[in-house]
Amino acid sequence: MVKVQLNNGIEIPQLGYGVFQIPDLEQCGQCVRDALETGYRLIDTAACYGNEQAVGRAVKESGVAREEVFITSKVWIQDAGYEKTMESFEKTLKNLQTDYLDLYLIHMPYGDYHGSWRAMEELYRVGKVKAIGVCNFLADRLADLILSHEIVPAVNQMEMHPFCQQKELRKVMEQYNIRMMAWAPFAEGKNQIFRNEVLAGIGADDNKTPAQVILRWLRQEGIAAIPKSVHRERMEQNFDIDDFIISDEDMEKIRKMDSGNSLILDIPSLDEVCRLHHIRFEQ
Ligand code: NAP
Repeated sequence: MVKVQLNNGIEIPQLGYGVFQIPDLEQCGQCVRDALETGYRLIDTAACYGNEQAVGRAVKESGVAREEVFITSKVWIQDAGYEKTMESFEKTLKNLQTDYLDLYLIHMPYGDYHGSWRAMEELYRVGKVKAIGVCNFLADRLADLILSHEIVPAVNQMEMHPFCQQKELRKVMEQYNIRMMAWAPFAEGKNQIFRNEVLAGIGADDNKTPAQVILRWLRQEGIAAIPKSVHRERMEQNFDIDDFIISDEDMEKIRKMDSGNSLILDIPSLDEVCRLHHIRFEQ
């Protein structure tokens, strides 16, 4: 399994499996068992996905030792702030049937995320989490967080796919040695990504699909990725990216697909801030 290092020295699988939008707990459990059998050893969930319990149960029942599975979860906006983050973290541990998390992330840069970060620094220092980080922090918020606290986030989980490559943000993250983790590496299927001619052309000689080309491109860029699929054959396909290499010329072709814009989550937009502040995902 290919691993990448975080800025605190720990190593994590470069390729993981995400469980967003699998609210049915039975199905989510089956997906996680399938993913673990396929070979995935990083599972990405969040308090607001409402499926932490299913993930915890599936990991426990899988027969794979807890310390072999890298589990990520996230604190949601309505639990921003020191006290609420501490409470939410305890719920997350209980749901996941574990006494520590591998990676704990602030889900959105809204609300009292400074308070959340203080809680996370404390959880990290006492060993309850192996690494802490953020999601959806653009350069301004990231710099604000870093300049206000002691611990630099180990990870920033961002929308990242061929149409949205976060090139400017990545430059700032590189300066602080913050690992990019790509959420929605397939742009959730938007823009007919699975039929894209550039990607299909790049994979043709090696008999690889556009999905595999995207994941291989992310690997060669040094970016962690957490694709989601509820179908076992797609999970297996997405995991099967070790046996080909994208040439420098083809890497450049994919870099040119960048639109510079998000297709899914426009974080600084007023509409998004209002929409997300009013959503409370219940578990
Ligand atoms: P994604 O991984 O880009 O796309 C998932 C979609 O692609 C699903 O419709 C899936 O369909 C399809 N798919 C997967 N593999 C395929 C293949 N080989 N061929 C054809 N179709 C395929 O989108 P995502 O689920 O939004 O993102 C991945 C993970 O990132 C999430 O599960 C979550 O863990 C994380 N995430 C984090 C944030 C954040 O704010 N931190 C936000 C969004 C997501 P089927 O399932 O039907 O196969």
